[in-house]
Amino acid sequence: MRGRVFVLVPFLLLALVPAPSAEEPTPRPLLVTVDDLPIAGGGHDDPEERRRITDGLLGHLKDHGIEAVGLVTWRNVRDAGDRALLEQWLAAGHELGNHSYGHPNYSTTPFEAYREDMDRARVELEALLGSHGHQLRFFRFPFLREGDSPEKVAAMRAYLEETGQQNLPVTLDNQDWSYDGPWTEARRAGDAAGAAAVAEDYHAALRISIRHHERRGDRLLGRTTPQILLLHANAIGAAEWGRLFEWLEQTGHRFARADEVLTEPLLASPPAVVAPKGFGTWDRLWQQQGAEQAREGAVSVLTTQAAAWNAGDLEAFCAVYAEDASYVSSTGVTQGRPAILERYRERYPDRAAMGTLSFEVLEARPAAGVEVTMLGDAAPSRVHAVSVVARWRLAYVDRDAAEGWTLLVLRRRGDGWEMVQDASL
Ligand SMILES: [Zn+2]
Repeated sequence: MRGRVFVLVPFLLLALVPAPSAEEPTPRPLLVTVDDLPIAGGGHDDPEERRRITDGLLGHLKDHGIEAVGLVTWRNVRDAGDRALLEQWLAAGHELGNHSYGHPNYSTTPFEAYREDMDRARVELEALLGSHGHQLRFFRFPFLREGDSPEKVAAMRAYLEETGQQNLPVTLDNQDWSYDGPWTEARRAGDAAGAAAVAEDYHAALRISIRHHERRGDRLLGRTTPQILLLHANAIGAAEWGRLFEWLEQTGHRFARADEVLTEPLLASPPAVVAPKGFGTWDRLWQQQGAEQAREGAVSVLTTQAAAWNAGDLEAFCAVYAEDASYVSSTGVTQGRPAILERYRERYPDRAAMGTLSFEVLEARPAAGVEVTMLGDAAPSRVHAVSVVARWRLAYVDRDAAEGWTLLVLRRRGDGWEMVQDASL
C-alpha cells in the first residue's frame, strides 16, 4: 500500500537534497461510485455468474476499506436473485442511489417520458431502501447527460429537488465499461493472454483518464481536488479492481465517503451544463472558464483597437487583424491586413477625420463543441473562435457622431486573439 512510498521518498530526498523536509503530500480524497447495478451490460445473464461478479466487486471494496455509492439501473434488477445482490451491497455498508429504470438518453427523450422512467426506478428503490432502514439520496444521470436545452436542464433540477434526490456528479469519467465485453469474450474462449491484454488496456485507460482529470481539476482550483471515480459493476471490474485500488493508493489517493467529497461545493451542486453529451465536473468548469476567458479576450481586442485609434495610431489599430483578414463594408470586401490598413489611411487621413472611437459590445459568442477523445470519452473542445456583435461610435468635437454596427470573427493568435473577419456597417 503506502510502504513503498515511505521507503523510496526519504532515500531519494537524502540522495538529492541537502536538507530534506520529508513531508508526505496530503492524500487526495476519492469517492468510488459504481454504475448500472446490480450488473452492468447484457452479457452476464447466468445468475451464478451475477453472484460471482458481485462477490468479486464487494471483495475488492472491502479489502481496501472502501464505502462506495452504487447507482442502480432498475431494468437490470430482473428477479429476486438480483434484489438479493442489491441487498448484499447494502449489507456491506455501501449506499445505493437511483440511475433510472431503462437508462434513457435525456438528449433524445422528452422531459415527461424521462421523468416517468426516473420515477418508476425511484419508487422501487425507495421501497427496497426503506425496508432496510435507508433513505434514497443520490441520483445519477445516465450517460451523464443532464439536458440539451436550458429548459430540460431546469426541469430535471426541479424534479430532483422535489423528490429529494441529489445529482451525484463524476469527476473521473472514463470508458471502463467498454472493456468488459472483449475481456469476457476472451475469457469464455479460454484466451487467457487475450483477456490479460484487455485488462492491461483497461488499467492504462483508467490511469490516463484519472491523471488527466485530476490535473485539470487541480489547475482550475489551484489545490488538490477531491475526486469521484466512475466505475461499472461488471466482470472485468470483479477481476481487476484490486490492482486498480492498489494503484490509486500508491499514487496518493485516500478512499473517502460520499459525505466527505460532497463537502466540496462544486461537487455538492455541480455547475449546470447544456450539452448533448455528458462529461465530468472539472471538464464543465474548464469549458465555462475557457468560454469566459475567450469572451474577455475578444472584448480586450476591441479595447486595444479603440485605444490605438484614439492615439492616432492606425498601424496599431490594424495590428489586431489577421494577415489574411477580410474586411466587409457596404462598398465591398477588402482582403488582407495591408489592404485594410491602406483603406483606413485613405478614409481617415488625420486625427480630425478619426475622431474618438468607442465600442459597445452587445454579445460575444465563443465557438466550442463536444469532442470525442481517442479513448472514447466525450470532452468539451477548447474555444477556437469568438464572434462579436458590437456598436461602434466615432465622436467629433465639431460635428455629429457617426455610428454603426460591426460583426467580428476572432480566432486564437498566441495567447490572445486576432480578427479574421470584420463586417462593419
Ligand atoms: Zn449508466
